[in-house]
Amino acid sequence: MRTLAEEILGLMVERTSGLTAEFAAERLAVTVQNARDAMHKINEGGKADLIQLPGSRQLYLVWRGARSAGARNICVNCHKAFERPLGSKRRSCTRSCAVALSWRKPGVKEERIASIKIERKTPKARERLAAHNRRRWAKPEEHEKLSKDNKRRWKDPVIKAKMARGIRKIRQLPEKRAHSSKIKREHWANPEIRQRYVEGIKRSKSTPEARAQFSDLLRERWKDPVMREKYTRANVARDNPEHRAKCKARMDAYWNDPANAEHAAQTRAKALESRLRNLEARRTPEKLAIMKSMLADHKTLGDCAKAIGEPYGFVQDWAAREGLKSSPRKSAGVRARISASNKRTKALRRAAKYAASNVIHC
Ligand SMILES: [Zn+2]
Repeated sequence: MRTLAEEILGLMVERTSGLTAEFAAERLAVTVQNARDAMHKINEGGKADLIQLPGSRQLYLVWRGARSAGARNICVNCHKAFERPLGSKRRSCTRSCAVALSWRKPGVKEERIASIKIERKTPKARERLAAHNRRRWAKPEEHEKLSKDNKRRWKDPVIKAKMARGIRKIRQLPEKRAHSSKIKREHWANPEIRQRYVEGIKRSKSTPEARAQFSDLLRERWKDPVMREKYTRANVARDNPEHRAKCKARMDAYWNDPANAEHAAQTRAKALESRLRNLEARRTPEKLAIMKSMLADHKTLGDCAKAIGEPYGFVQDWAAREGLKSSPRKSAGVRARISASNKRTKALRRAAKYAASNVIHC
């Protein structure tokens, strides 16, 4: 069984002027890609050369022996034919191909990358890069380009993961942490920036999603014995006179500020308003009809509350507003007791009346 490379070399006996991958693929009933791969292997093995003739994009496989010295030279990098002066041993057509070729030598790539990495960390290189960036950012038209470029790069999951990893790594450096901590302290001390921060935080934390997320997070943490112990310890540590005094001072200062007191009053008024609106919305005609018919049927307010699914206080309040009275039907035992008590009262009254009428006046 001959390999594909051997089959192709066999074909070259009849195609001395050069063999294309398409021709080999058709003759040997393989894909063009497979034929091309085999041709590259032959080229690396040194038995034949892949060449690109001037004016053609096609790669041809030709016997190495068929090449006459100084007449037809093939670039080892790009496979293009090139002229070389007599006596020269050049293997590549251009300077850039020579450089590209040198990168392929074993060990060279690693060595060069390592030295570039070291060079980039020198103050001089950093200054160079900073100057370059300053130059670019100074041009408004570059902003758009950089922004587009960055967005495109972030869309690539591999690049995104790599950049995120880099950012995380840098942010965790002690000097970076100290720096950002210092900047943040300065920002919070600046009333204007502080106001912006507070508004942003309020906006992002007050969305229903953020609230649900935070609530879930706390619930999860409370289940974790380590976090639970930590929270508990922190709470216990807070329970001391100094901390309480500090909290009190802070709250006093807060409430002494008329703006805060005003804000709180407004919030309370708004809450009350919305509560009243809610109550109004809950008083529907359907529910009222149910209540009326139940009360007419001698049911209690408690029964009505259960039937319409509202708290007892709400139903009691509503019934009073509507002038509805509950006249619950008493049980047989209660009715008998009331009747006996009424009879006793009447008998006593009669006896008293009789005794009064029989007083003998002297
Ligand atoms: Zn070349």
